[in-house]
Amino acid sequence: FFISFEGGEGVGKTTQIRKLAQRLAELDFSPTISREPGGTAGAEAVRHVVLDKAAAEPFGPKMEALLFAAARLDHVESVIKPALKRGDVVIIDRFMDSTRVYQGASNDLDQDFLSTLERVAINETSPDITLILDMDPAIGLARAAERREDNVDVDRFERETLAKHQARREAFLKIASAEPDRCKVVDASGTVDEIADQIWSIVETALIE
Ligand code: C5P
Ligand code: MG
Repeated sequence: FFISFEGGEGVGKTTQIRKLAQRLAELDFSPTISREPGGTAGAEAVRHVVLDKAAAEPFGPKMEALLFAAARLDHVESVIKPALKRGDVVIIDRFMDSTRVYQGASNDLDQDFLSTLERVAINETSPDITLILDMDPAIGLARAAERREDNVDVDRFERETLAKHQARREAFLKIASAEPDRCKVVDASGTVDEIADQIWSIVETALIE
């Protein structure tokens, strides 16, 4: 069973993933947690390069999309597919929808180019359920700026304008309404426990079906 978490900056994906994995483990499921870009040595190296805050606009939009796709394919082949094969519940912090939103909607990239890349990168492995954590990007960005992740104070994308982040929020919601069976929108403005309960009721239902 494959679950992806999506949403803007600072919406609490990482915290909720940990909580969900804990709950699954208590019920004797075997969770595998990972993140994108990343999850393998090669993909973590790509992450370091693409998120580098010192590099202003180092890549053109197509090159950026290809780098994310390269990292994703490696992650799918080396981590996600083997874990699914073992019967694990695989939980990934960002997956193909982040590319649709960040490399697609934001960069105005050609749709055919992006869907070809997506097909190559995910290699027939798409999430059963995608949880889209939704909140006002002004609040999320403020939270994201407070943390120190990967020794990168604020990554290249977090630094972008509020208007861009608002457009990304809309793009995530648009994906959710286009694919309501796969994508569930979760109001991420409540307390950690409230959000965890919302997520659990969605996942529980999906696991039973
Ligand atoms: O920790 P977090 O998931 O927020 O960090 C990943 C960073 O990479 C975010 O700033 C996100 O916007 C960016 N990203 C991206 N395109 C993807 C996946 C992530 O621009 N496909
Ligand atoms: Mg995160």
